Amino acid sequence: MSVLEHPSFDNHEKVLFATDEKTGLKAIIGVHSTARGPACGGCRFWTYDSSADALDDALRLSQGMSYKNVMADLPIGGGKSVIMKPQGSFDRDALFQAFGRAVDALNGNYITAEDVGVSPDDMVSVYKATRHVTGLPEGKAASGDPSPVTAEGVFRGIRACVKRATGSDDMTGIRVAVQGAAGHVGTYLCGHLSRAGAEIIVADMNVDALQKHVKEFGATIVDKDAIYDQEVDVFAPCALGSIINPDTIDRLKVRMVAGAANNQLATREMGAELQRRGILYAPDYVINAGGIINVTGEIRGDYDPAWVKQKLVNLEATLGEILDRAENEGRPSNVIADEMARARIEEAAASKAAAA
Ligand code: NAD
Repeated sequence: MSVLEHPSFDNHEKVLFATDEKTGLKAIIGVHSTARGPACGGCRFWTYDSSADALDDALRLSQGMSYKNVMADLPIGGGKSVIMKPQGSFDRDALFQAFGRAVDALNGNYITAEDVGVSPDDMVSVYKATRHVTGLPEGKAASGDPSPVTAEGVFRGIRACVKRATGSDDMTGIRVAVQGAAGHVGTYLCGHLSRAGAEIIVADMNVDALQKHVKEFGATIVDKDAIYDQEVDVFAPCALGSIINPDTIDRLKVRMVAGAANNQLATREMGAELQRRGILYAPDYVINAGGIINVTGEIRGDYDPAWVKQKLVNLEATLGEILDRAENEGRPSNVIADEMARARIEEAAASKAAAA
């Protein structure tokens, strides 16, 4: 299996393969860029069919974190780690401590946190072996659940899209279909939308949990498959990735797609397809950066809510800039966002090299 020739390899600064026979640890840490600061990004604990799949995830996700972090103008770089879930029984605390030792070997070039399959308690295990960890459940700078901050960023992003589409940021009567509305981000997002006067249509696997949305937010429930067919202003995906794909795109009768889910476009070309249909797309890693903004608040030391708030205001402005450029240049917003991210990373790398 090649690494340097791998299709997802993007001049990553470091790729660390870490194993520990005693605990069964098999992990890969991708440090994509430290041009703007230590590479930050969560640790994914997942059953992979092969180490090739795990490598692909580590390479792709760490590059994605660089783009997300630089577009949120955070003083951090991009990284991500994956742990291949061992088969059979294993000692979870020992496994995450072994992972912590691997993180520690990078001397602060990489700072880890939770991602899919990992809990704040796992981060406590990691903390036994390294200080380069965040997302801890308690302590002076523990920033807590990032979902409310992510939801606020997504709400601001939706408002920026509405402003481009209607000329006003008044959300009264704007119809929004929220996929995954019962989830952490989805629920907080519905609260923001409802307070702003939007009409909400919701879908989730967990239909029972949506009763709260009906009572508190006046939401209308639809079947989870029908969410793609709603005639609304905004489709807000807050559940799964790859939901804008050849099977769903023709069903969308919306003016905007703007939500929290990661990797919403099944392929990069889907961005161009949305643009061709006149649908405004808020690039996912720009609009959903509230969580990493919140975590960076923790990394900086004393958690300062005012700093976090200002970053969310800036997120709304950055998204507006991307959408304006996409319109003026007649090009897909996801392509513009990628170009802006790459340019910012290159600029930071050049100044770091000049200062060395
Ligand atoms: P969550 O697991 O709390 O919520 C996801 C919700 O989606 C659940 O209620 C689940 O029942 C529902 N769901 C799953 N499959 C569905 C389907 N086919 N149709 C309808 N609903 C379905 O997750 P979350 O923390 O709210 O995150 C939501 C999305 O946002 C994820 O893609 C996540 O990666 C992304 N994201 C989250 C954060 C954060 O701060 N939590 C930050 C950035 C990105």
